[in-house]
Amino acid sequence: MRALRYHGKHDIRCDTVPDPEIEHPRDAIIRVTSCAICGSDLHLYDGFMPGMKNGDIVGHEFMGEVVEVGSENKKLKVGDRVVVPFTIVCGECDQCRRGNFSVCERTNRNREMAETAFGHSTAGLFGYTHLTGGYAGGQAEYVRVPYADVGPVKIPDGLTDEQVLFLGDIFPTGWQAIVQLDPQPTDTVAIWGAGPVGQFCVRSAVLLGVKQVISIDNVPERLAMAQAGGAITINFDEESVVERLNELTGGKGPEKCVDAVGLEAHASGTIDSMVDRVKQATMLETDRPHVLREIFYVCRPAGTVSVPGVYGGVVDKIPFGMVMNKGLTIRTGQTHVNRWTDDLLRRIQEGQIDPSFVITHTVGLEKGPEMYKTFRDKQDGCIKVVLKP
Ligand SMILES: [Zn+2]
Ligand SMILES: [Zn+2]
Repeated sequence: MRALRYHGKHDIRCDTVPDPEIEHPRDAIIRVTSCAICGSDLHLYDGFMPGMKNGDIVGHEFMGEVVEVGSENKKLKVGDRVVVPFTIVCGECDQCRRGNFSVCERTNRNREMAETAFGHSTAGLFGYTHLTGGYAGGQAEYVRVPYADVGPVKIPDGLTDEQVLFLGDIFPTGWQAIVQLDPQPTDTVAIWGAGPVGQFCVRSAVLLGVKQVISIDNVPERLAMAQAGGAITINFDEESVVERLNELTGGKGPEKCVDAVGLEAHASGTIDSMVDRVKQATMLETDRPHVLREIFYVCRPAGTVSVPGVYGGVVDKIPFGMVMNKGLTIRTGQTHVNRWTDDLLRRIQEGQIDPSFVITHTVGLEKGPEMYKTFRDKQDGCIKVVLKP
């Protein structure tokens, strides 16, 4: 089959590799009908995530048709149409039973590596470094899905791939980021980053009925999409984020803030971002937390900060005194995808939201490598890429 594989920084290729096979009786093999490039795939592409090996199949946002089912898998049958969450979950461990799926205790087959890095192991993820299990990803014609009797979400007839594909990652990721804020009708929610996850944060905050949603970015087409979704927008190249947020909140600052940017905040020109860049280049720091610093500064005292943006390792110069003295609450986490999928699928069926709004590019799998570059460089109005294997 054909699959997109990692061969080092800025080197993704469409290669021919052996088809995956059932390895465990709970597995299923899925023929991928649609997959997507996620913002966090760019962290791999840019070489920021440790634990990648030459030849790893990438991609963690995918859906398709079940073509083979292991003997112990009672949930799926050949021909079922499913979306596969990017988190691999066992459904049986203590964390899974609590609904904390992204920290499933069993599915990371490289637990020791993760324990060394983080103190505890977290869930296995598709196509995302050997720190999270080193599982083959879904930017491919076929994927082996482990624990396929738990994770995959069956899709009812009448919905297109484009409407449901993002149930596997960015839609529940944006949703969880907002739900974690305990959004209230009197709240102003400010969202840094208007990439795909930021877009779903905007729509989720609007669906959950907050007073005011503000989207902060510097890419005009992203801001236009956020505005179409109901946000007031701030272009940080053109105006002061802090001043404008104070203006929009009567000088009080937003109660609820979201960092939908993560480790690659490109706040060029600010002094703290230059310090970060130097430290990152010399491995004294792995992530650049410029956005987090700005959020802690501007967030209203006793407010809540939600971080769906991906961080990989060490961040430096986090003003923790500001967090403590202002009494801020910080909520984080990879997405507990299966906690949200029933509700979100129902909302799609009811027409409350059509997630396909975010797609700007649809191409064949072999065009994947060049689309990584287009997406990364935000060229050609690119916000979200769907690949058709
Ligand atoms: Zn993702
Ligand atoms: Zn589990």
